[in-house]
Amino acid sequence: MAQRHVPFEPKPGAGLVQQIRAAAATAEIAVQPLRGNVSVLMGSGGNIAVLPGSDGKLLIDAGIPASKPKISAALAGISSDPIKHLVNTHWHFDHTDGNEWLHSAGATIVAHVNTRKRLSTTTRVVDWDFTFPPAPAGALPAEVFQTEQTLQLNGATVVLHYYQPAHTDGDISVHFTEADVLHVGDTWWNGVHPFIDYSTGGSIDGTIQATESNLAKVSAKTTIIPGHGPVGDKSQLIEFQDMLTTLRAEIAALKKQGKSLEEVLAAKPTSPYDAKWGALVPPGLFAKLVYDGV
Ligand SMILES: [Zn+2]
Repeated sequence: MAQRHVPFEPKPGAGLVQQIRAAAATAEIAVQPLRGNVSVLMGSGGNIAVLPGSDGKLLIDAGIPASKPKISAALAGISSDPIKHLVNTHWHFDHTDGNEWLHSAGATIVAHVNTRKRLSTTTRVVDWDFTFPPAPAGALPAEVFQTEQTLQLNGATVVLHYYQPAHTDGDISVHFTEADVLHVGDTWWNGVHPFIDYSTGGSIDGTIQATESNLAKVSAKTTIIPGHGPVGDKSQLIEFQDMLTTLRAEIAALKKQGKSLEEVLAAKPTSPYDAKWGALVPPGLFAKLVYDGV
């Protein structure tokens, strides 16, 4: 990563964490059934996958607590099974803020060892201009793993697999094997530029490597749940990979010419992509995140 790491000016990320937490109070929660009894809840933080059944509901990611009434209603609409299991794809607040209430509701939390490490301590994310205090004890994953863990729940085989550092240093994928539904967390943002968290081990090259790993794992038939954006498939993941590698090459070339961050931003290297990809993470911030890592 870059030697100099300062918040992007004029700080489009300032207040972003607070804004996302507050917006979840009024956000609608959409429920989309996929395959093999797996559904996805969209609208509160990162996309939440749900597998109900006699072993109790399994959730992948926890959403934002302000959405608890609507998430609870959506979960009740899927089945009456109690909430028993929660997996975090990584430590970010929009995937783990709901940990505490879901744990209180009965969930055992599973995550990568680095996710528990990040949640356990004060963690500053420079590009969000935000410092997170340690999470409460009930929000911490009780079970952690290093490389891979397989859950047998509700008649399904669910494989949790660690990436190398990608979007953070704790990202995992979750494969519902029989249904062939893959939740890839924030290694994929479908149709929008991704955020990349250099403060906790993420990088553009790690993100590209995770995308290569995702592409190697899926077939044309695999249903892929991104951390953000609509549920998609391999063809959309390939578009994301093309966007990442093209912009990485262009921004790396500008940096190699000696251009400063300000000069690179002024050159607007993302402009051919902004109409399609610029709706969530501001293009200038994404360009800065690439610049930092090349
Ligand atoms: Zn994230």
